[in-house]
Amino acid sequence: MSVITATSAVPPLHSPRSTPRPRVAMMVRSSNAVSAASILTKLHSDCATPLPLLRQVSHAMAADMRAGLAADGASDLKMILSFVDSLPTGDENGLYYALDLGGTNFRVMRVQLGGKEGRVVATEFDQVTIPHELMFATSEELFDFIASKLAKFVEKEGGKFESRRGRTREVGFTFSFAVKQTSINSGVLIKWTKGFAVSGTEGRDVVACLNEAMGRQGLNMRVSALVNDTVGALAGARYWDDNVMVAVILGTGTNASYVERVDNIPKLHAPKSAGGSTIINTEWGAFSRGLPLTEFDREMDAASINPGQQIFEKTISGMYLGEIVRRVLHRMAEDATLFGDSIPEKLQMPFSLRTPDICTMQQDSSKDLEVVGSILYDVAGVNSKLESRKIVVDVCETIAKRGGRLAGAGIVGILQKMEGDSKGAVFGKRTVVAMDGGLYEHYPEYRRHLQDAVTELLGPEISKNIIVQHSKDGSGIGAALLAATNSIYPH
Ligand code: ADP
Ligand code: MG
Repeated sequence: MSVITATSAVPPLHSPRSTPRPRVAMMVRSSNAVSAASILTKLHSDCATPLPLLRQVSHAMAADMRAGLAADGASDLKMILSFVDSLPTGDENGLYYALDLGGTNFRVMRVQLGGKEGRVVATEFDQVTIPHELMFATSEELFDFIASKLAKFVEKEGGKFESRRGRTREVGFTFSFAVKQTSINSGVLIKWTKGFAVSGTEGRDVVACLNEAMGRQGLNMRVSALVNDTVGALAGARYWDDNVMVAVILGTGTNASYVERVDNIPKLHAPKSAGGSTIINTEWGAFSRGLPLTEFDREMDAASINPGQQIFEKTISGMYLGEIVRRVLHRMAEDATLFGDSIPEKLQMPFSLRTPDICTMQQDSSKDLEVVGSILYDVAGVNSKLESRKIVVDVCETIAKRGGRLAGAGIVGILQKMEGDSKGAVFGKRTVVAMDGGLYEHYPEYRRHLQDAVTELLGPEISKNIIVQHSKDGSGIGAALLAATNSIYPH
């Protein structure tokens, strides 16, 4: 690390934040006029989520859901039809497979279902990393690779796993990229994301791509259900508990799905008498109204690959919380000498501080905040004093609290929308919200803030009926179950 004593290169403190800041490895601030405490005080007030604000957020979420159900393109929320209209009942029987392609890994799984008595008799899974070059390959090459790994996995079937003679094996395919679903077992890829740039898939039915590749491998197997990961999570949780009505994933990104009555979906143009329910994938990460955003959020958004989009996701999900904290700390280092006279080089690197780091720092109960000190040293390359460490923990808490509480308000928005259409059917009885994803699972403070917001918004009576809980099985078994409920064979 080199030190540049750059007194003249630093813009005055009152300059607008849009002034480009010099990109030097390390520099010395122009003045000490701003204290970290005052930046922190402003952060507290900008991130505040008092009850009236949470109410507005939940109302806006409910209103945006209605708009998205009325017509495509009418809302931030796409409210995508999942074509899942038969949820698992517990009667599902037999051997089913699930394949989850969501990012750099894909998972294959087999599930032996034994009906109401046997339930999930056995499961086995395998995880494979997609070789980096395949992310830039042709569609055939990618799907051939997936099908070949699936074929290897199927070869090892045995023991408790038994496929019925003469039957084609059925797969539930969880595919977490933007798809325009056209039926329970077909959907056209709109766009690759998360670093994938595979040629020849966009505009094609991804189920056909996989079925064809399985054919080329000589596998007697077909996709019976194409599912979004939140839809899989909902189906998986519902299998154990009929009261599950909503599923929320809080991981790298975030999304939610819920059970909706068909006659509440105007854009479906179904006959009024249609009846029945289906699962709607809200794509709620795109929600944006009434959120308490800071200059740090705006700067992070502007520097992102999708500026102006996925604002709710950028405020509440795992990919971003650490980065928001880093931006605050960077400002405190720059304007208020939080870490002494210089700005640590590593702290200037986007995404160098990750959400698991801020979570770990919040768990530090030592007197000297030693864990905070060592993370700051490892991640930001700074030797910190106790006073600074306390401020860092406060920043982590502020960002996690805002995220958790806003996620809670989003959940209440979904519940209010459902309750508004069917008085008493949600708030008047036990209703379960199934939660999944690494952020929810591993960040206890975040989880607590989420629950607090739900309880505050619903009040003590109603919140007794609303159970927000980590779902046992996640989306893997859910996808296999949806393959079962949508089997080509009679149940
Ligand atoms: P994905 O969303 O990519 O399918 P996961 O549901 O496993 O994957 O979530 C992974 C995300 O969860 C990470 O990107 C991270 O943001 C968050 N996460 C993982 N571990 C922790 C932790 N200990 N504390 C806070 N967040 C965590
Ligand atoms: Mg996932």
